[in-house]
Amino acid sequence: MPAIQSRLETVRQQIQQAVERYHRRADSVQLLAVSKTHPAEAIRQAAAAGQGRFGESYIQEALDKIGQLRDLDIEWHYIGRIQGNKTRAIAENFDWVHSIDSAKQLRRLNDQRPDNLPPLNICLQIKIDDEESKAGITPREARELINSMADYPRLTLQGLMTLPAPAVDLEAQRIPFRRLRELRDELASEALPLPTLSMGMSGDLEAAIAEGSTIVRIGTAIFGPRHYPDQK
Ligand SMILES: *Cc1c(COP(=O)(O)O)cnc(C)c1O
Repeated sequence: MPAIQSRLETVRQQIQQAVERYHRRADSVQLLAVSKTHPAEAIRQAAAAGQGRFGESYIQEALDKIGQLRDLDIEWHYIGRIQGNKTRAIAENFDWVHSIDSAKQLRRLNDQRPDNLPPLNICLQIKIDDEESKAGITPREARELINSMADYPRLTLQGLMTLPAPAVDLEAQRIPFRRLRELRDELASEALPLPTLSMGMSGDLEAAIAEGSTIVRIGTAIFGPRHYPDQK
């Protein structure tokens, strides 16, 4: 069995085990395969093994791969930093964006989303563990953005995303994920139920599922280690 196919199978089993252990519904956790830095051919192998959602973090690299894989039916998720001059490429080429952290990004993506595409699905990236250096917005800023969503008819706010600092064990890993879930419960309303919690990566997937993750973003465990090129 090719390496990617067998790693994908292992990750699916890990998700399945966590879903059972924490009494989650079997279909309540989606796997996003994070393919940044890996070639289009690796995505093709994962797609052949049934994987349909892929996450990318670097816009030019992503556009190259999206172009090479037009023959496949792939749902593309943007999970990287959003630079102002890159919003048009994101609005035109992606189905989801997980890493929104400003009103300006909402305005630009809404204005630039082509009319012939469905609304762009978005998550707000939350700085949940108070680390100065981390990307994301505070809960208070999130509340403000949520209150402005009616201004953006070309965007569908699906929920919240977080990328916490690495923690040593399962219990420590669960803390920021639990805080994100509690924040979601606080911010959700009938009009905006915020069903998505985008949380959990290769090293903390079980903790994230235990706390209610609905999308785990898994790179290394599927594609192996990354070698970072110098790129923006
Ligand atoms: C790279 C990346 C991932 C995947 O991380 P792994 O540890 O390789 O699974 C998940 N989320 C974000 C935002 C990333 O940038």
